[in-house]
This record gives sequence, C-alpha cells and structure tokens, in this order.
Amino acid sequence: MAETTTQSGGKPGLPMQGIAQPAREEVLNLPRVHISTHPVMAHKMTALRDINTQPPEFYRLVKEIGALLAYEATASLALEPYPVETPLKPMVGQRLAGGIGVTPILRAGLGLAEAFREVIPDVQVWHLGLRRDEQTLQAMEYYNRLPHKVDLQVAYAVDPMLATGGSAIDAINVLKRRGIPRLSYVGIIAAPYGLLKLSQTHPDIDIYIAALDDSLNDMGYIVPGLGDAGDRQFGTF
Ligand code: URA
Repeated sequence: MAETTTQSGGKPGLPMQGIAQPAREEVLNLPRVHISTHPVMAHKMTALRDINTQPPEFYRLVKEIGALLAYEATASLALEPYPVETPLKPMVGQRLAGGIGVTPILRAGLGLAEAFREVIPDVQVWHLGLRRDEQTLQAMEYYNRLPHKVDLQVAYAVDPMLATGGSAIDAINVLKRRGIPRLSYVGIIAAPYGLLKLSQTHPDIDIYIAALDDSLNDMGYIVPGLGDAGDRQFGTF
C-alpha cells in the first residue's frame, strides 16, 4: 500500500519531511526576484531575527523594514505630469499615475501593509485572509475584502514569510482574477523552496524580499528565519 502523504508531499505531522529543497545558490539569480542588498536593511534584519526582540519592537522593525521594501518595490511605478504652484511660480510636477493597492495576507501581513501606508498614504488596503493548514501547508481562504470595482496600476501582496509559497501563490491568483495590470509580492524572508515555487508559478510578477534564508525545517518554518512572524508581531505565544 502507498504511504499516506500530505498535499505538499510530506508525511502527516511533518509536512516538509523528506521533501527535496533547492539550495540558496540555485535561486539567487531568478528573473524578477529582488533581494535587498542595503546595509541598513541587513542591520534591521539582525534585530528582527533576535529571539530577545519583544513584540512592540518587533512590530516597529517590521514597519521600518516594510518601508524600505516599499521604497524599493515602488521604484519603477508610472508617473504622470501634474501642474502645481510653488510659492514662487507655477510648474509641472509629477504624481503617481493610477491607484496602488496593498493586500496584506492576514494576519502576519498587517505590519507590512501599515508600512506601505506610511510611505504612500493613499494606497488602498485590501485584506485577504489565508490560513495555513499545519498538516498539509496548503493555504485556505477565510476572509476576502477585495472590492469588485478595480482601477489600479499595481497591487502588492504582502506577507513577511515566503515559506512553501502556498499563500503567496494563492494571493496572486486572487489578485489576477481582478484584472490588475501589474502585480508584485513583497516579503521579509524567503526560503529557496517557496521563492522558486512562486517565481515558477507566477513568472510575470516581481518579487521583493529583504533576505533569502537557507531552507525550511520539517514543519515548514524558515531556517534560520525569525520564528512565527504573526505571533512575534502581536505577542500571541
Ligand atoms: N510563517 C512564519 O511565520 N514563519 C515561518 O518561518 C514560516 C511561515
């Protein structure tokens, strides 16, 4: 009789046990993947990972790292001319052409969405609830507040941890069904496994992350990672 496995291919209870994972070097140069090289980012990442960093400080760091990621991820957005009067004379300035949407994957994505709002206050925030089944590691949608009428130039799906890639892939599927012309994923730490899966499933999106770690452990946690990003932001241990 064939051995029972989860949908990700692992054994029940240990969803990633025995699953082959790509090495870090194999995914370093994937197209449309942007891994931050900024020293300030590296400095903040060390504080974020530290087991002694408590939830209020952790949440503040998520927002600071998120603001740096938002800055990088919005660097190629389209602009349109916009007339403005300075105290000295009229001139033609520029403004962002078209709306910008941010979809936090609940609940861990909330800190990153807040960071985007601080960089671009008029972003639209569309909440999407995807829960990870701990046995199968499959993402299940339980909440969706995406509007029916959409007029955006870009939407960003934001979730700090790109582990198996399941939630990120599903979130991009949901956003693609809304016909948004340009989509990106923004996360803090990726595992090679999830990064490869997301990049291969959605080769038409940009992926922005602050760090690429080594692997997933048998439970599907990123190693060395930072633990559970939701619990560490909201103090639910
Ligand atoms: N989600 C987390 O919060 N942490 C991980 O390491 C993986 C998924």
